[in-house]
Amino acid sequence: MRKHRLRLTGFLALVLAGCATTPDGRRQVLLVGDDQLNAMGVAAFNEMKANDKTSVVPAKSVYTQCIVNALVTELAPEWQKLPWESQAFAIAEPNAFALPGGKVGINTGLLRVATDQNQLAAVLGHEIGHVVYRHAGERISQQQLAGVGMNLIEAYAGRHASAQRTQLMMAALGVGAQVGVLLPYSRKHESEADRVGQELMAKAGFDPAAAVTLWQNMQTATADKGRSPKLLSTHPDSRQRIHDLQTALPQMTPIYQQARAAGKRPNCG
Ligand SMILES: [Zn+2]
Repeated sequence: MRKHRLRLTGFLALVLAGCATTPDGRRQVLLVGDDQLNAMGVAAFNEMKANDKTSVVPAKSVYTQCIVNALVTELAPEWQKLPWESQAFAIAEPNAFALPGGKVGINTGLLRVATDQNQLAAVLGHEIGHVVYRHAGERISQQQLAGVGMNLIEAYAGRHASAQRTQLMMAALGVGAQVGVLLPYSRKHESEADRVGQELMAKAGFDPAAAVTLWQNMQTATADKGRSPKLLSTHPDSRQRIHDLQTALPQMTPIYQQARAAGKRPNCG
């Protein structure tokens, strides 16, 4: 009975929310609107900032925001108008995220793997790709339809959210690694984020070849440490990813050269 009601709720929500499409035309089921999704992103971001185990590194936050600004300028107007905000957290584990609502975070440990602005732009472009393709919303909607016991859409509702609900919400948004609940994105989401991220960095004047180098560095870091950085746990299949990013270079390089010729020469440090 309960299951039946959940399905019916899901069905009604589906009728109300309808289908959406990604920027390149793939049909998506979205049961959660942008306002709600953005509110969840902001809540998760505040949660991370309030965690007393993490401290923010202002200079690295400025560096990150500089790259985010250059990338965001190349997005469609509806995405540009979000209040984009970046924070660098003093955490050794290489990791990064971008949340609905325009909230971006990196762990300073990422800077040992993403060693220049182009490589960091590759990571951030990818994460922003997840946002503009509404992957978190799609994932939450899939869980709703599957009748996963907990109502994730309610979970963000601030004051009364239990620690467990907050963790689930953060996992659904792709930042579960921060709270110990890993939920990798699907291969489809990953390749979409890779594609849009690499194009975004090229349009902004960052060398798209750095996306290949970045993921190679990530693999080397894994071999050195004998275990994967969390970023790899949530972003699996790096060999295929490197191959695809490499294959796309002949299309991406002219976009990059055009951007440079037009004076787009980011200098974030
Ligand atoms: Zn990803």
